[in-house]
This record gives sequence, structure tokens and C-alpha cells, in this order.
Amino acid sequence: MLPDIEKLLQLQTADQEIRRLHAEIAELPKRMAVIEQRLAGTKAQLEKARAAAKADEANRKKFEAAIQDLQGKISKYRDQSLEVKTNEQYRALLHEIEFAQQEIRINEDRILEVMVNADLREKQVKAAEAELKAETAEIEKEKEEARRLTAEDQKKLAEWNGRRDGLRREISEDVLRRYDRVLKFRGSGLAEVRDHKCMGCQVMLRPQIYNEVRGEQLVYCDSCQRILYFDPANEPAPQPVAEPVHVKRRPRPKPDAAQAWFYRPDYGGFGEVLIVFTNAEGTATRCIYDMHSGRQLGDILNREGNYHQAFPEDFTDTAVRLNGFWEEEERVGWAAEMPSAALDVLHNDLRAAQRERGRTHKEESSAPAEQSAAS
Ligand SMILES: [Zn+2]
Repeated sequence: MLPDIEKLLQLQTADQEIRRLHAEIAELPKRMAVIEQRLAGTKAQLEKARAAAKADEANRKKFEAAIQDLQGKISKYRDQSLEVKTNEQYRALLHEIEFAQQEIRINEDRILEVMVNADLREKQVKAAEAELKAETAEIEKEKEEARRLTAEDQKKLAEWNGRRDGLRREISEDVLRRYDRVLKFRGSGLAEVRDHKCMGCQVMLRPQIYNEVRGEQLVYCDSCQRILYFDPANEPAPQPVAEPVHVKRRPRPKPDAAQAWFYRPDYGGFGEVLIVFTNAEGTATRCIYDMHSGRQLGDILNREGNYHQAFPEDFTDTAVRLNGFWEEEERVGWAAEMPSAALDVLHNDLRAAQRERGRTHKEESSAPAEQSAAS
């Protein structure tokens, strides 16, 4: 792995950890606020219980004052009754006294009611006080824990920041600039390549880019701009190559298919190539790709007739007809480069064709000897 990539991976870890710590530290005041709010609720309940007790006390005093007032009136009526001249006046006074006595009884009942209630009120206040006390202690503990966590996070943050600064000094400036920019917009600046794909954006890589990443070059994803790296430890296990004897017979490509792929080991100055011919509406088309990079070579040619008639010079003895078909629409989408998945299909089929050819040669060369021995 490139030293810059190794440092970038460590830098990425540091950046992620720093971001996590910042988020955790920012969470703490919010947690404190929730705790304070809970405490405020309990305090309000206690205040309510206390206010109710106080109101009861005020009422009791009011009723007592009313009784005193009524008793004063009664003694005044009694004094007056000693001086009245007529029976009517006397009866009227007695009536007033009776009425006042009745009022006194009502107020006494009210006082009794308040006193019975007072026990309940006192219990409510005591319970609220106890709850507040317990909650305050609990909250102090939680606050202390939050403070401890914040201090710990701050310490870790300082350590990670130091590590990050150190790493940044060891990475070249151009690479850092790229990393920072992509990190800012995409949340990460690095992406692993697995199975020909950029794991950052899930887009298939061009074969050239894929080979460069595997060849320890510093390259960027065309689609998401992340710096790419390849970890051989995550490489998929190679497909076990079956023994030729057990290989299923390779399907025969149709000689007159509308799309026909060929391999040529010796194509002019290009060397190994893949050629695709297509027939459509009386016109044959030929397109040539580099066998290994998948890049298009030369121009696409159109000629009248089907491809056997139109390009007779291409059907040489060394040309190997391959199995492979892609819809025209998809193929046009490749533009000037085949995707590595399509390349893989054709490479695999070529290997199968070559194995098959090797076996046929062996059979041919051994067959006459056996025959001559039998005869
Ligand atoms: Zn990408």
C-alpha cells in the first residue's frame, strides 16, 4: 500500500473520531437541560403543595376570626336584651342570637374540615420534599457524570487533534487538498475498491483505473472524486479453476448471430484485440477493443451486407469466435471503453475456448496412433 494511503487511512480514523467526540460533547448541554427540566417539575409540585397548605392556614384564621366576631355580636345582643321594653323586641334579639350561634357552628365545621385536610396536606408537602431531595442527589450524580464524560472527551479530542496534525504533516499537500475537499462535500475522502467497484459511490471503475489502483498508483474515483485504495486482504477469493476434464462443454456461438465477438491475437499493430461485428438492416458494423484495457481502437466501420461478406479480411485462422452478447443500447453506453465486467466475460470464454482447443488437438494426435495399433 502507498505510504500516503496508509497515512490517509489513519487520518480518516482520526477525522471520524474527532467528529464523533464533537457530537458527543455537543450532546451534553442538551442532556443537562433535560435533567434540569425534570428537577424544575418536582420543585413546582412541592411549591403547589406548600401553597395549598398555606391557603388552608389562611382559611382557618378567617373562620376563627368570623367565630370571634359572631361571639362578640351574641354578647352585645345579650346586653341589649336586659334593656328591652317589649316582648317583640326581646324575641327579635333572641332570634338574632340563634342565627349567630348557627353561623358559629357552620364556621366550626369548616375549621374541622380544614384540620382534617391539614394532615393530608402535610403528608403531600413532606412527600414532595423527600422526592426533591432524592432527585437533587440523583441529578447531582448525573451532572457529575456528564462533567466527567465531557472532560474525558475533551482530553481525547486533544489527543486525536494532535495525532491528526502529525499525520497531516506527513501527507503530501496535493493529496491532502483533495482529501479535504471531498471530505467536506461527501463526508469521507477515501474509498476502498472492491470487486471493480468504488465502495464510496458504488460505481464500477474503468479497467484502466482499476489496474492503476491495484498497481499502487494514487488515483481518484471518476464519479465521486474520492481517493481510491485497494486492500489485498479484502480481495475476493479467486474462483477455483475446474479441471478441464470436468469442464462443461462450452456453448457454441451461432455463426450468423446479429452480434458476434472475436478474439484476434495479432491484429495489425494493435496485437491482441477483441472485435465485435453487428448486423442491422443490411449494414455490418465493426468495432475493435484492446484485449486488456478494453479501450476502443480506431474508428467504428460500417459496410454494406452482413459482416461475413463485408469484412472477409477479418475472418482469419487465428480469429477465435467468443460467446458474449450485450444489447446495442448498453454497448453504445460504454462509449470508448468496455466495462471490466464485459471484459471478464470475454476473457473467461477465450480461456475456455483455448482449453477446449488444446483438448481437441490432444485427441486428434492420439486417435490415429490408437487406430493404427488396433488395425
Ligand atoms: Zn466513487
